[in-house]
Amino acid sequence: MSRVLLLSGGLDSTSVAAWQRPEHCLVIDYGQRAAAAERRAAAAVATDLDLPYTHITVNASAVSGGLMANQPHSVGETPEWWPYRNQFLITVAAGWAVLRAYDEILVGTVAGDGDRHADGTQTFYDAMTAVLQSQEGRLSVSAPAIHLAAPALIHESNVTDSTLGWTHSCHVDNLPCGRCPGCVKRAEVLARAERLQ
Ligand SMILES: [Zn+2]
Repeated sequence: MSRVLLLSGGLDSTSVAAWQRPEHCLVIDYGQRAAAAERRAAAAVATDLDLPYTHITVNASAVSGGLMANQPHSVGETPEWWPYRNQFLITVAAGWAVLRAYDEILVGTVAGDGDRHADGTQTFYDAMTAVLQSQEGRLSVSAPAIHLAAPALIHESNVTDSTLGWTHSCHVDNLPCGRCPGCVKRAEVLARAERLQ
């Protein structure tokens, strides 16, 4: 079984990387505002964990929406909404992975993501697996941490503080703004993870 992880360089996908130790990590610049910081963070995380990684750019900013792209959002219910974001990223990862005979795509979704985004639910990932398997290859999509809240994932994964120190969570800037949903969630998750120690 060979697995490629979609690594954003945030807390969740970094913890999944440390926990699952996938055979490869894929870092995608899709035109998000924090792309440069996410790329730096993901590269540092992969290097720190001694995992191979590849960075690719597939610019989807022409079909972006919401806070992560500095666009007004009109359809989604959360500020960081981006239409079909996970579907797009999984499709890109699947194209990359099927050409290299991988079996599985891992994503860093945690419990609660599905409450904010329809593309963070097990139903969605099962549907994406069905779509992929109706085509080439036998790729499946797995979210191994989907039943764990982010602090529990940090605890379960045994990711170290030094690895987490490389992560980037801000949705709106390459330096943490301290106010966006990504920054706020990061502070809450780290405070709760600290209490689990
Ligand atoms: Zn921020």
